[in-house]
Amino acid sequence: MSLPRTYLRPLRYAVQLAFLLLTLFIGHQFYQFVKHFEAAGNPFVQRPPSVDAFLPIGGLMAFKYFLLTGIVDPVHPSGFILFVSILGVSLAMKKGFCGWICPVGTLSQYVWTAGEKVLGRNFRIAGFTDSALRSLKYVLLGLFVLAIGVMPMWSMAMFFIGDYYKTVDVRMMKFFTEMTGTTMWVLIALAGLSILYKNFWCRYLCPYGALLGLLSRFSPVKVRRNEENCIHCHACTAHCPTMIDVEKKDVVKSAECFGCMTCVSRCPSKGALELTVGSGKKSRAVKPWLFPVVLIVLFYLIIGIGMTTDNWHSKVPYEDYQALIPAVQKDYMKH
Ligand code: SF4
Ligand code: SF4
Repeated sequence: MSLPRTYLRPLRYAVQLAFLLLTLFIGHQFYQFVKHFEAAGNPFVQRPPSVDAFLPIGGLMAFKYFLLTGIVDPVHPSGFILFVSILGVSLAMKKGFCGWICPVGTLSQYVWTAGEKVLGRNFRIAGFTDSALRSLKYVLLGLFVLAIGVMPMWSMAMFFIGDYYKTVDVRMMKFFTEMTGTTMWVLIALAGLSILYKNFWCRYLCPYGALLGLLSRFSPVKVRRNEENCIHCHACTAHCPTMIDVEKKDVVKSAECFGCMTCVSRCPSKGALELTVGSGKKSRAVKPWLFPVVLIVLFYLIIGIGMTTDNWHSKVPYEDYQALIPAVQKDYMKH
């Protein structure tokens, strides 16, 4: 029997697609912004601040800088705001950013779904190997946190005012638009592994996801299973994209859960699987559609605070871009 909750999957696919298209639009706008400075005759296009979402390491540095000085990095302020927004939504709404908003997660999902359709199944790394591989993303996260943690403040301040940092977004774009042979082969290998294994990048390698997973443990929002109503049909476990054995849990506490609501939408037994807020006996079931609504509202609320406090658009003047972007282009032509 199909329950009305099946709407959750198309809803999620639509939200994911909308954010993916938004990312492509932002990427295209940024590409045009860069082209304006690289060759005469290209019209000026405003730099889209959201492009700083692709600078999570800069966001982490700016976060430390803000905590210790109270100053928001003026070069990529939106990077800091987006970093805080993504951390904030993870504290409140689990790894909902990964499951509903992140374009890399969406692409990863498209790739493993295609793999499943073509090969008839996805493969699974189990047991110790899976645990060992999953720890890789925490190791990477630890290395980044350590490197930024020990970085002296004066060194960070110098980095923030340096020319390299002003064009780090341009360099990031060129990493993809003018990729080296090595980068291309690494991406092909990752795509190949993602065809075979569900969410290979997210599950094993993404340090950002590792950080969000750790924060998500504090989220008051959880998927809970009610043994009395469960008919043990196995649908939740079979369809969970992060391979959590939901059928055997009373409460899904895993740092891998990205709140996609697939399990809730697949459950055929009323009252067996609920989205809940609060802990223990004080928890209460809420409508699962509230998950993406609160997630997106909170995400944009924090961005809105950044905008209204003038911490969104970069303070780098036009003349600096005019001098620096062609120099980056020359650097890349030498490669
Ligand atoms: S447990 Fe449910 S909400 Fe969490 S990732 Fe698995 S299917 Fe999605
Ligand atoms: S999908 Fe629902 S009924 Fe089936 S095993 Fe999971 S919780 Fe139980």
